[in-house]
Amino acid sequence: MPTNLEIFHSNLALPADDPPSLEIIRAEGMYLYDQDGKKYIDLNSGICVNNLGHQHPKVQKAIKDQLDKFSHVMVYGQMLLDPQLQLTKTLTDLLPDSLSCSYFVSSGSEAVEGSLKLAKRYTRRSKIIACNKAYHGSTQGALSIMGREYFKQAFRPLLPDVHFIEFNNQKDIELIDEKTACVVIEAIQGGTGVITPENGYLKAVKDKCTEVGALMILDEIQTGVGRTGTMFAFEQYDFVPDILLLAKALGGGMPLGAFISSKEIMDKLKTNPVLGHITTFGGHPVCCAAAVATLEAIQNENILEAVKSKGELFKQLLIHEKIKEVRGEGLMIAVDLGETDYCQEVIRKCISSGLFLDWFLFADHCIRLSPPLIINEEEIKDACHKILEAL
Ligand code: PMP
Repeated sequence: MPTNLEIFHSNLALPADDPPSLEIIRAEGMYLYDQDGKKYIDLNSGICVNNLGHQHPKVQKAIKDQLDKFSHVMVYGQMLLDPQLQLTKTLTDLLPDSLSCSYFVSSGSEAVEGSLKLAKRYTRRSKIIACNKAYHGSTQGALSIMGREYFKQAFRPLLPDVHFIEFNNQKDIELIDEKTACVVIEAIQGGTGVITPENGYLKAVKDKCTEVGALMILDEIQTGVGRTGTMFAFEQYDFVPDILLLAKALGGGMPLGAFISSKEIMDKLKTNPVLGHITTFGGHPVCCAAAVATLEAIQNENILEAVKSKGELFKQLLIHEKIKEVRGEGLMIAVDLGETDYCQEVIRKCISSGLFLDWFLFADHCIRLSPPLIINEEEIKDACHKILEAL
């Protein structure tokens, strides 16, 4: 009989040769448990997914209750399904008036794909602008706007008419012109080790888009649903995007994504051609029920209140001669160690001491800290103590 580890390496398609390969058999609150009963504090949240921790009782109940009623009944957008209606209502109440119409999909990449099509259809233009070092997903459209050539070169040809600007570079904003359908941009660049927008930068991008008739697509797939201390990061930067992208934490651990715009923009997907974007599982009722419970719990349990101070506590405690910088917003943090091999060694040590964390796709010299937002002061102190010990 092959062991689970043998099956993992032989029969499960893996995107890399050396994943952490922990065998997790249970997760609860802040903790993961492996098959040997070892407990790990989760400083990763499945990469910004489990913002309420694992198995939040309200989310679990919503999932179970919905399963007892129905799960899949029909492809997206054909029937009135209560969890989808509740979710779009909840989001509409949280968002500005111009973001009133939600198209639900099953992942972040799909939200990106849908939004690119919507922008092309709405503007009748083809030029797409994205940022160097951006990460928006792994499907062909999302890959086309990835700001790292290494990950794209083997898969060309990709989408044509894609152009890149430098995040935070005011001068590059001038490249957004009358031919531009959309600018796709993260609120905070995640994959490259948490680069926050400089004062007024995102607003300047949005203003330029408005001036030339392009749409600004804001990717909040990582930053959304409370990660940076407000429900959506854009609330901190004094502008409203034309299209907002959510996924990851939205489904409370279930697969769900959304692209959200005004009804006027979204309605373009209905005509010429009709059925401009279709999905079988988009807005799966069980996932939408989990999302409603997640958004309600974040509000009812005042989860957002302490996110910024928790992030600050990490920054105060993580002082060490080997740490070049600790940067980020709220609980989206990069600990920059400056050196890849050393960083990977520290991460291995942390994992063996019961801290689960990892690095960034484009920044393997930085430790990624994105714990569930429910992490408490004691847990932060304990985690930082273990990181310092590993250093
Ligand atoms: N955009 C951003 C900013 C992301 O971090 C990710 C996922 N890491 C995606 C898009 C793609 O999401 P998914 O993996 O659900 O397709």
